[in-house]
Amino acid sequence: MTHFAAIGAGFSGAVIARTLVEAGHRVTVFDARTHVAGNCHTERDPESGVMVHKYGPHIFHTDNERVWEYLNQYTEFMPYTNRVKTISGGKVYSLPINLLTINQFFGEAMSPAEARAFIEKQADLNIEDPQTFEEQALRFVGKDLYEAFFKGYTQKQWGCSPTQLPASILKRLPVRFNYDDNYFFHKYQGMPREGYTAIVEKILDHPNISVRLSTPFSRSQVKDYDHVFYSGPVDGYFNYELGRLGYRTLDFKEIRTDGDYQGCAVMNYADESVPYTRIAEHKHFSPWEEHDKTVCFAEYSRTCESGDIPYYPVRLAQEQTMLRDYIKKARAEPGVSFVGRLGTYRYLDMDVTIAEAMHLAESFLELTAKNNPVPAFFNEPI
Ligand code: UDP
Repeated sequence: MTHFAAIGAGFSGAVIARTLVEAGHRVTVFDARTHVAGNCHTERDPESGVMVHKYGPHIFHTDNERVWEYLNQYTEFMPYTNRVKTISGGKVYSLPINLLTINQFFGEAMSPAEARAFIEKQADLNIEDPQTFEEQALRFVGKDLYEAFFKGYTQKQWGCSPTQLPASILKRLPVRFNYDDNYFFHKYQGMPREGYTAIVEKILDHPNISVRLSTPFSRSQVKDYDHVFYSGPVDGYFNYELGRLGYRTLDFKEIRTDGDYQGCAVMNYADESVPYTRIAEHKHFSPWEEHDKTVCFAEYSRTCESGDIPYYPVRLAQEQTMLRDYIKKARAEPGVSFVGRLGTYRYLDMDVTIAEAMHLAESFLELTAKNNPVPAFFNEPI
């Protein structure tokens, strides 16, 4: 029986391992941390009983039927719709930008068609093909809404000016000319009843999968396996020999009280003068549960340094150059494929991560069945 290794017990490593063992192979999954599920890890807070997303809010949403069905084998999804609020200039508004936000912000009572025409007047139509975050915002919502809701938040979140960031980051958010305040536009959305860690534990629960927690993996161990799927940071694999790819990390400041602290799961803070980007009140992620006490976390974003947990890949011009050099090294490395958010240094949502892991494990099985070479990347980092 062939023996593979998956490095990282997050969604990538777990889904790859499960797919391979179901095809008759054996997989050892390594994780340096004490728990599975990577940054999706959830655990019950002992004091309040609330299910806490230890590395910040994760809300599952997808259009991918296959991914939705796959996860439904491992969890019951409870109905959950993400409705985010934001505080800007001392007032609360609805997000994503929708007709309520526009009417509240401009003190109007416009219809959808009126609001659309109004925003088109605000928009900078000279920007034909927006490249940067700021251009995208000026083109689609105009200066006033950009400055009120995006400029300060983005500066805090990414530690740089929105003029330096790609338009793709803002494209994650819809702008709506109706009163739909669902943060996501996907067909399926929900929260796993017992959290994300329970899902990953079940995916990994198979006689041919062994999980080794608190066990870092090094490049010298690759030769011990028929193939390695590495979902750790690609620069970390090479011991950062070409430098560190930029990431943002998060610090969380805990807030505890009784009852309801803020009345919603996620409150964003748009103003640059407030040092945190958002406060998440985790009991509102499980609206089917009841808890007297509450626990919230304010998120502070900063540059990820040695020893910190990487969250968001920065991917500015200098990182792209370094990434190209790491890609070259990775392609020259036999026996390893680099997968997932950290292995390919991309900003990935959970559903995309799972879809990619399923597909790549299936392609791997097809390639090896035909004795074809296995690529270093099944999903191109650039
Ligand atoms: N963003 C913003 N203001 C907000 C919410 C988001 O400027 O109130 C920008 C910010 O740059 C953020 C990006 O939009 O990084 C994507 O937001 P999303 O809510 O998808 O971020 P995530 O939940 O992945 O941190």
